[in-house]
Amino acid sequence: MYLDRILFPVQTLGPGNRAVLWTAGCSKHCPGCANPELWHTDGRKSYAPETISRILHQMHLDQKIDGITISGGDPLEQPEELLALLEQIQEITQDILVYTGYTLAELEQLPHFSAIRQQIAVLIDGRYLEQQNQISAVLRGSLNQKIHYFRPEYQPVYEAYLAEGRKIQNIWMGTQLISVGIHNRKESSA
Ligand code: SF4
Repeated sequence: MYLDRILFPVQTLGPGNRAVLWTAGCSKHCPGCANPELWHTDGRKSYAPETISRILHQMHLDQKIDGITISGGDPLEQPEELLALLEQIQEITQDILVYTGYTLAELEQLPHFSAIRQQIAVLIDGRYLEQQNQISAVLRGSLNQKIHYFRPEYQPVYEAYLAEGRKIQNIWMGTQLISVGIHNRKESSA
């Protein structure tokens, strides 16, 4: 699986202290995408889902992981690897949030998706549309993206989290300070 990074603990991409994974590879190339450096996989190492799962299990032993968010890139462009990973991390948490640039209708045509949706709590779907990046789109880059609850028991905790509004968290990764969360458009008010 092409993976760029894992950060933990993140509080700005879903409720609780979350491990957040950014996969590499996205063919959609939305104008204004926050992570264009993750569009391509050229020259990147591919990790076995078992390896990524082991890292997450060790993190969870060291400090409890409340939830896992998988972003990118588009994780659904690696559906076979994503499914294998999801199956191996269920015992850490079932609060798994996945972002994708596909719409749900498109995903329903993709191989492995019916199995993938059994393994995730929440899906946020759709291309990023810069003109629809509004601060009311909490947890989403733009208003067209939809939040789908595949495990309804998580809906109340997500709705409480959404009511808190957009959040940004700065996290050191080595010597680099990374700003994690959903960012407003530069010209929009904070
Ligand atoms: S789908 Fe997401 S990662 Fe892919 S280009 Fe669009 S905003 Fe960027």
